[in-house]
Amino acid sequence: MKTVNLEQATDSALDLIGEQFNIKRFPREKNRSYRCRMLALARGIDFPDPQLHRPWYWWLTFLWTWQADALSMFAVLLIHMAWGRSMFWSDGLWVELRANCWPARTWYRQWGGTTFCHGGMLGPGRASLTHERHHVEQTEARMLAGFIMGLASLVVALLFGSGPGHCLLALEIPWFGSWLLGYGASVGQACLRGEDPYAGSHLEEAAYALTEDDLADHEMGDAQNARPTGKK
Ligand SMILES: [Zn+2]
Repeated sequence: MKTVNLEQATDSALDLIGEQFNIKRFPREKNRSYRCRMLALARGIDFPDPQLHRPWYWWLTFLWTWQADALSMFAVLLIHMAWGRSMFWSDGLWVELRANCWPARTWYRQWGGTTFCHGGMLGPGRASLTHERHHVEQTEARMLAGFIMGLASLVVALLFGSGPGHCLLALEIPWFGSWLLGYGASVGQACLRGEDPYAGSHLEEAAYALTEDDLADHEMGDAQNARPTGKK
């Protein structure tokens, strides 16, 4: 397997690559992971993704995310058929866009990636995968809270002798709603604080904090071991 030498990722080289692929929006992601991925992209080779080791009970999460995941993975499949370079699993099902596809050249060129639920879409090079996987964690926790609230309101509906339709609504509105509303609420509160709607969202603040160098290195896991740097 071809590998990428980190030392060759100078700032000027990255600027050139960024220009070539219209990647300008995320200067804070110019960390090691980002540099290696951009270099790999420029050379047309695959960069190994971090290997995640989740315990078996992590899969219980899908009990409360499966509805959103069904929609998310269906969307990923469609996007892959239309514009995908590759589709892969990393805490979810992701599609990486081709560098020359229509969204990557036009309306999506400023974006590194978008998380739907367990998975989503990534710009060419998968540079924002670490960032997006943090959004996956946020979504998991949000949907667990929504699921518990849904079960609680289902119990109340049952105690009041509600019919099946009302019981279903009592369960679904807090559960499914937690998926739809969580991000919007973070944007809304950022606006109410007078902050930038995107950069001020606490979900983005947390995800961007994770893509600083030291944490990104931690996240690299096996991928970092697979990269022969030759020196420490
Ligand atoms: Zn984000």
